[in-house]
Amino acid sequence: MLNYRNEPEKMPSYDGVEKNYRIKVNANESTLNLPPLVEERVINRLAMLAFNRYPNEEYYSLVEQIAKNFSVDSAQILLGGGSSEIIEKVFHAFGGAGRKIVYPQPSFSMYKIYAKAADAEGIPFDLDEKFNLDVDAFIKKIREVGASLAVVCNPNNPTGNALTPAQIEKIAASIDCAFLLDEAYVEFYGQSAVNLVKKFPNLIVARTFSKAYGMAGARVGYMIAQAEVTRMINKTFMPYHMNVLTLAAADIVYQMRDEFIPRLQMTIAERKRMFERLEKLSGVEVFPSETNFILFRLDKAEELKNYLESLDIGIRYFSPNAFGLKNCLRISIGTRLENDEVFSAIKNFLEEGK
Ligand SMILES: *Cc1c(COP(=O)(O)O)cnc(C)c1O
Repeated sequence: MLNYRNEPEKMPSYDGVEKNYRIKVNANESTLNLPPLVEERVINRLAMLAFNRYPNEEYYSLVEQIAKNFSVDSAQILLGGGSSEIIEKVFHAFGGAGRKIVYPQPSFSMYKIYAKAADAEGIPFDLDEKFNLDVDAFIKKIREVGASLAVVCNPNNPTGNALTPAQIEKIAASIDCAFLLDEAYVEFYGQSAVNLVKKFPNLIVARTFSKAYGMAGARVGYMIAQAEVTRMINKTFMPYHMNVLTLAAADIVYQMRDEFIPRLQMTIAERKRMFERLEKLSGVEVFPSETNFILFRLDKAEELKNYLESLDIGIRYFSPNAFGLKNCLRISIGTRLENDEVFSAIKNFLEEGK
């Protein structure tokens, strides 16, 4: 028997099962690869890399671009291998034995796992049946338990709804502990709270290239906070944790981010179209979304998931023990053609009682 420490065996695992579906709308990825113009520039850039050197210049080049875009100091930015790594490090920095981390549920299923990994107590705070957050009660809970970290995903995954910037500001202003705001989907919402960072020393905003920028495979995200916060969080990272391939590619993508505007607009328009069509189906409850996905509920959710799977369409089904998500399914927005096909399949399933 190998002598593992005790904790890993007790860790829950992430329940997203991955398979290459013909139509893959289960993981909130961008359905399109990089815009051709951007891809060409990325490939050219990769041809000039110094593979033999540690990636200093490439790291700071991207940091400076991001800092400039948000009019903050470059000392306020840290990069991570996806915002997953950022979130993990923030949990690590504020977690620890006997300490508490509060987050709404249902929300990103990884928060529970990061809390556990950080040896902290994860305290979920229930959203109501419409998945709205009672902001005052949430604040009260955070203060009551003496949390060291509060986390909010805005807009929220997997429910799709969003708090207003004023609500975010209220939370930041009303709690003393660190406040991590996960803005993985904010490009589809348009109302970021990054500008609040200068006002609130407890606020940490995490962003990612994985969703709006179609870079999930490259693993790149970043955080913005006051310089004293980034200085502390930076201590939890290993040196050179970002690789040069990712950094160089993300540097080009960020330079060329305007090229993504048309597809963001397409996704938002398609989301609206899908929402309206799904809403007309009887027996289906659709939840409004400010993201690149839509959550809906129907009695035969598991059967529908299986039916779509038989057509090689992958959508996200939630286990019946996932809080508040009984009979819920989540589909990410694909191309117009993909969305049409997914919708027709759902409609067929309902009409033919499959
Ligand atoms: C996708 C996602 C992330 C980040 O994913 P990365 O690929 O690690 O950047 C973070 N939070 C939420 C809620 C997400 O859905």
